[in-house]
Amino acid sequence: MKTITPPPPQQGRTALVTGARRGIGFSIAERLHKDGANVVLLDIDPAETQAAAMKLGSEEGRVMALAADVSDRQAVDEAVRQIMARFGGIDILVNNAGISPKHDGKSATVASMDAEEWQRVISINLTGTFFCSQACLASMKSRKWGRIINMSSQAGRTASTIAGAHYAASKAGILAFSRALAAETGPDGITVNCIAPGRIITPMAAEAGEEANAQYLKRIPVNRLGQPRDISSTVSFLASDDAGFITGATIDVNGGAFMS
Ligand code: NAD
Repeated sequence: MKTITPPPPQQGRTALVTGARRGIGFSIAERLHKDGANVVLLDIDPAETQAAAMKLGSEEGRVMALAADVSDRQAVDEAVRQIMARFGGIDILVNNAGISPKHDGKSATVASMDAEEWQRVISINLTGTFFCSQACLASMKSRKWGRIINMSSQAGRTASTIAGAHYAASKAGILAFSRALAAETGPDGITVNCIAPGRIITPMAAEAGEEANAQYLKRIPVNRLGQPRDISSTVSFLASDDAGFITGATIDVNGGAFMS
């Protein structure tokens, strides 16, 4: 008897993942590629973004690398134009790019934070999420289907011992932005959800130092730090047809470190 293998779930769809050259973003790009989507890796460094895309291979031309700063509206709009020209649309957007500035492994206090650093964090983490979402809406609306998945943080849900106030404010802002966008775009078949990761082992997490991460581990009931695949598997679900009735939601992926 001949067995028929079903096509991968995201075949024919195009996903844009920001901050995709490393860490959580690269794991998301890898997973959506495995799920069958055309995957666009967007990040700030051209050579490293290209190198990350090469790791996924160029099977059937399903991978594209783009260098852009998500806080630069013109650069984002130009990137989306290039994706439209190559793949004809964008179905899945993962707003993952983010920064969490550290000084000798520590975040600035509110008392010591300079206004330029505050503005930079808000511009990349929050305004970048707005620019990328806005740029992708027309394509999703025209197809009456879309998935926007925004990377918040446990720091946006509760007090953080590691992240700064600018980072926490940007990540809490993403939660409110996502609910507003979910209400606005639900009638167009677009869902908008957030993931709030706890401590995930990536280059960003390493900047806080081993001791901070070891202390953090003591507060995690499942007794391990997170891995990028813990987040990319959640993205894979939220991007799927099975998640079509979930919108405006926040999924905490933190091993139980914070339970709402
Ligand atoms: P990371 O620093 O390893 O990766 C972030 C990526 O974003 C980098 O590749 C970087 O080049 C890119 N980026 C930064 N500024 C950019 C810009 N202006 N335009 C385009 N790309 C830009 O961090 P990560 O740990 O993989 O974090 C990914 C996301 O997950 C971030 O939004 C972060 O805030 C969030 N997060 C991480 C953790 C964690 O413990 N690692 C926890 C909660 C939330």
